[in-house]
Amino acid sequence: MKITVFGTGYVGLVTGACLADVGHNVVCVDIDQAKIDKLKQGLIPIFEPGIEDVVKRCVSEGTLNFTTSAAEGVAHGTVQFIAVGTPPDEDGAADLQYVVAVAKTIGQHMTDYKVVVDKSTVPVGTAEKVQAAIAGELANRGEAIDFDVCSNPEFLKEGSALEDFTKGARIIVGTDSERVQEVMQECYAPYMRNHNKLMFMDVRAAEFTKYAANAMLATKISFMNEMSQMAERLSVDIEHVREGIGSDPRIGYHFIYPGCGYGGSCFPKDVKALARTAQDIGYNPELLLAVENVNERQKSVLFDKVNKAFDGDLKGKTIAVWGLSFKPNTDDMREAPSRNLMESLWAAGAKVRAYDPEAMEETHRIYGDRDDLAFCEHRNEAVAGADALVICTEWKAFRTLDFDWLKQQLKFSVVVDGRNLYNPEDAKAAGFLYYAVGRGDSL
Ligand code: NAD
Repeated sequence: MKITVFGTGYVGLVTGACLADVGHNVVCVDIDQAKIDKLKQGLIPIFEPGIEDVVKRCVSEGTLNFTTSAAEGVAHGTVQFIAVGTPPDEDGAADLQYVVAVAKTIGQHMTDYKVVVDKSTVPVGTAEKVQAAIAGELANRGEAIDFDVCSNPEFLKEGSALEDFTKGARIIVGTDSERVQEVMQECYAPYMRNHNKLMFMDVRAAEFTKYAANAMLATKISFMNEMSQMAERLSVDIEHVREGIGSDPRIGYHFIYPGCGYGGSCFPKDVKALARTAQDIGYNPELLLAVENVNERQKSVLFDKVNKAFDGDLKGKTIAVWGLSFKPNTDDMREAPSRNLMESLWAAGAKVRAYDPEAMEETHRIYGDRDDLAFCEHRNEAVAGADALVICTEWKAFRTLDFDWLKQQLKFSVVVDGRNLYNPEDAKAAGFLYYAVGRGDSL
C-alpha cells in the first residue's frame, strides 16, 4: 500500500517507519530540510529506542523514503497521514495552523482519490476543517476530485513508541465511510494477526477519545500528587499508599506514581486544549482546571525542597541535577519539570551541574552556553563537588545509589528525590537530609 506521512517528529517518524517495516511503501515529508537530510543519511533526529534499526532497514530495502517535496508526498500515497505538531496557542487551544497547512498542500497537489488521516491530536471538529481546507484548494483549482478525511489519533508513548504503535491496545479510526474503513483495515492489517483491535467510530468521537484518554491519565497523576502533598503533612509514606491502592484492580498500578509533575508534549497541552474546548462550549471544566493547577504546583516542589534544605539561601550554591528529559527513555524536554527546577535555581543565584543519558543535546539547544549550567558527561561528574543532588527523571541508571559514596562527593549531605527512587532509611542511615515526594517524616 502506498502511504505518505506528513511530519517526521516522534509520531510521524514512528508511524512511517513502522508501516514501512510491515511492507507498506512509505514516503515521509517534512518542511525541516535539516531533519530530512539527516534521515536520508540514516541519522535519527530524535532519541527513541529501536527506531534507528527500523529506519535504516526500511531505507535500505527501499520501503521508506524521505523528502521535503510536498508535491512528491501528495502524489505518492493513497493514504495521507497528517502527523504534524499541534502546540497550544495563547489561550490554550490547539494551534491547528500546521495541520491546516498540510491539508491545503494536499488540496493543491492531489490528482486522484486520497484518504486523509488526522493522526495529530486535534480537537473535535478538526476533520471538518481539514475537509474544508482541501475542498477550498480543489475549488481554487477548479477540480472536483474525490477524497475522504478520517481521524486516527495516536496513543504511543515516547520511550516505547515502536512497541506501542505495533502492539497497542487499540487502533481507533473515526469515519462514517465504508470505503475509508476498508482502506484503513488494509493499512493496519499487519497488526491484526492476533486479534482485531481496530475500533471504528464516528469522527468526532475519535477526536474526543484521544483528549479524554490523556486527560484521564493526567488526572491520575495529579490525583496522586495531591495525595502525596497530604501524605507529607500527615506523616504518611505515600509509597505504601500507592501499593495499597494499586493492588485494587479497579485502580491498578499504572500512572499512580507520585513525582514532580507531568510534562512532555502531550499531557500539558492536551489538558489545556480540552479545558479550552469546554469553555468554548460554555461548560466550566472544574476537574480539568484542577488537574492542571495541581500539576503546576507540583512542578515547584523540587525547588521548594532544595530551597528549604538551604534555609532559602541558594545564592552561590551548586546543585547537581540527574535527569532532564520529562521522563526516561526520551530526549524530549518539552514542559519537563527539570526546566522549572533549573530556571528557579538560576533565579535564586544557584548554579546547575546537569546530567541526562539522552537529553544533553536538547538541553544545550534550549539554554545554550551559560556560566550557571555545566553539562556533565556522567552522573558521577555531576555530583563531584556539588552542594546537593536533585533527581528529576527516573532513568534506570539512577535507580541505585550508594549514599556513603555520595557523601564523599557532595559538600552537603542533601538529596531531593523527585521520583521516590531510594529507601529513606538508607539515606538517613548515611546521615543525609533526604527529601522525597510524599514520604511522611522523610521531610
Ligand atoms: P513533533 O514536533 O516532534 O514533530 C512535528 C513535525 O512536523 C516536525 O518535524 C515539523 O517540522 C513537521 N511539520 C510541521 N509542519 C509541516 C508541514 N507543513 N509539512 C510537513 N511537516 C511539517 O511532534 P510530535 O511529538 O510527533 O507530535 C505530532 C502530533 O502527534 C501532535 O498533535 C501530538 O499532540 C500528537 N501526539 C504526540 C505524541 C508524542 O508522544 N509525542 C503521542 C501521541 C500523539
